[in-house]
Amino acid sequence: MYKTDCNLSEFSYLNIENLSEKTVILRSCLNVAVDENGFVTDKTRILESLPAIKYFAEKAEKTIILGHLGRPEGYSKELSFWNVVEVINKESALGVELVPFGQELHQQGKVLLIDNIRFFEGEESKDATSRENFAKELASLGDVFVNDAFADYRESASTFDIAKFSPSFLGPLFLKEVEALSKLNNPKKPFVAVLGGAKLSEKLDALKSLCEVADKVIVGGAMAYTLMKASGVEIGKSLYEEDKIGLSKEILEKYGEKILLPIDHILSSKFEKESASEIWDKKDIPQDKIAIDIGPKTIELYKSEIAKAFTVLWNGPMGVFEWPQSELGTREIGQSIVNNLSAYKIAGGGDSIAAINKFGLNGFDHVSTGGGAMLAFIAYEEFPTLDEII
Ligand code: AMP
Repeated sequence: MYKTDCNLSEFSYLNIENLSEKTVILRSCLNVAVDENGFVTDKTRILESLPAIKYFAEKAEKTIILGHLGRPEGYSKELSFWNVVEVINKESALGVELVPFGQELHQQGKVLLIDNIRFFEGEESKDATSRENFAKELASLGDVFVNDAFADYRESASTFDIAKFSPSFLGPLFLKEVEALSKLNNPKKPFVAVLGGAKLSEKLDALKSLCEVADKVIVGGAMAYTLMKASGVEIGKSLYEEDKIGLSKEILEKYGEKILLPIDHILSSKFEKESASEIWDKKDIPQDKIAIDIGPKTIELYKSEIAKAFTVLWNGPMGVFEWPQSELGTREIGQSIVNNLSAYKIAGGGDSIAAINKFGLNGFDHVSTGGGAMLAFIAYEEFPTLDEII
């Protein structure tokens, strides 16, 4: 779990001196969902980024916003910020101007948005020198750098290297995320972690770390079936990761008493939306069946642990919550978390946020915008984009 002795408020964007005379380079997380033409289909991340954008647009002499969209290989219209800038302006009336890819980066204007920073080769170059050279070029555009993109936690020129070449600060969203997640370092006990989703491989390090700090780790979704197979349970045709069986055995040996796995299931013969499903009242699953959700006994077991908790962290669905026949586990577990009014409650990850919206699960103390970033924060003692600034 990431921990720092630093007083982060020292690095807050609020401490920038003589802001009205400064050009601020603001790195925001603008990695929103777009359709095949580049129309924004979910503006949550833009809305989360707006407080910082508005603050600097109002107070700084000039603001240059940086961000990325998707994983482009060279320029493409659908991954350009053409509609992102329109959404920003519709939501804020700031009149942000887009600097199209291919134009000189040094431009006149009060609030500029440079097009998808991943169009530039230097941004994610594997060659450290070319990444740093690009970071220097970006740093030269302004006087100070503010990182507000907690979710974009990987080390790229515009999130990491740039901080080496510019006085650097943390933005409001970044600070909010770190403050909320840091509470897990000293959680009010019992601390119950709820992990779900498809891939154990993506959550292994976080699982290990949570097993150290939490009192109980509840596991659902397909990732539970890799752990169950490792423990010798028959999982039928359920999704699992063969290459993680060895590590799963080690984890179960070390932390088995803390980890809760499904004791019954919702099964189907086909992995299809609206396929026929049945409640299966046993742990072991018949050879020709696929588990698509946790069963009612598991729901009750998990709910009883959640009800006792004073801290709850949730990342990942309990089943294929997108389908009607396998949404109940995720809905009930999510609901039981928000029903626990005494607990400090954090949720994160794209699918948990989708489930929160789908089922109207309001009442979390913090919903993290960064799924991978949240897991990295939990899993490791380092968070490079933050460490480079403090
Ligand atoms: P992740 O991206 O790893 O958080 O996984 C989220 C996805 O896991 C969702 O789209 C769910 O539909 C899927 N999922 C959850 N439970 C299962 C399951 N038992 N079998 C297959 N997929 C699942």
